[in-house]
Amino acid sequence: MIVPRALGGLPAASRAGTPTLFGRILGLLILLANSGCHDGIRSSREDLLDLSILQPALRLDLRYATANNFTGHILYPSPRAFLLAPTAHALLSVEEDLKRQGYGLLIYDAYRPQRITQALFDSATPQQRREGYVADPSKGSRHNRGCAVDLGLWDLQQQQVSLMPTGFDEFSERAHSDASKGPTEALLNRERLRSAMAKEGFKELPNEWWHFDDRDCDSHPIRDWVWWDQTP
Ligand SMILES: [Zn+2]
Repeated sequence: MIVPRALGGLPAASRAGTPTLFGRILGLLILLANSGCHDGIRSSREDLLDLSILQPALRLDLRYATANNFTGHILYPSPRAFLLAPTAHALLSVEEDLKRQGYGLLIYDAYRPQRITQALFDSATPQQRREGYVADPSKGSRHNRGCAVDLGLWDLQQQQVSLMPTGFDEFSERAHSDASKGPTEALLNRERLRSAMAKEGFKELPNEWWHFDDRDCDSHPIRDWVWWDQTP
């Protein structure tokens, strides 16, 4: 970090005795810079776990690492999924529960850097923003906090994605988590997913059947840590 020039001009008493107000503020600034925290947004990974390392069998279809998403662009240069440790472990419990019913999870998105929330917001239409289908980047998304996940079901017997009322990121009323329109099989699959997630304390989002928040999600900080462009 850049040390302010003013540091050299501090009165002698402030370097060796009780810190002045200026000294205290400077100390706080240095602390914030070293902790990777800017404007309240963390840029450090801390306890975000890589889901593929934690459970290599977990199925991923990370849409923002492909052009198969509503923006039509690749937003993640590499397909990796991270969650805070308690959320990641809760998700593995859901996976175990579903396995006994003949299903697995299919992860569409997990932790999302704040800059990607901004990119999604920029790509959305004014109506999509108004209707709450994209998070306001100034407030951040729970995905930015590492405790929200987008996912569907995988049929273990058929070895294919389970039918749901809509595709991922389809912004329509049919995608609402309590929508009653759609094939019976799709509605049953959605209820199976909702029930399994609720058992582990995940909360659904009314507008999107695929989105779930872990408990106490808002108590975690917003992050803009990225897993690409890392210096070795
Ligand atoms: Zn989501």
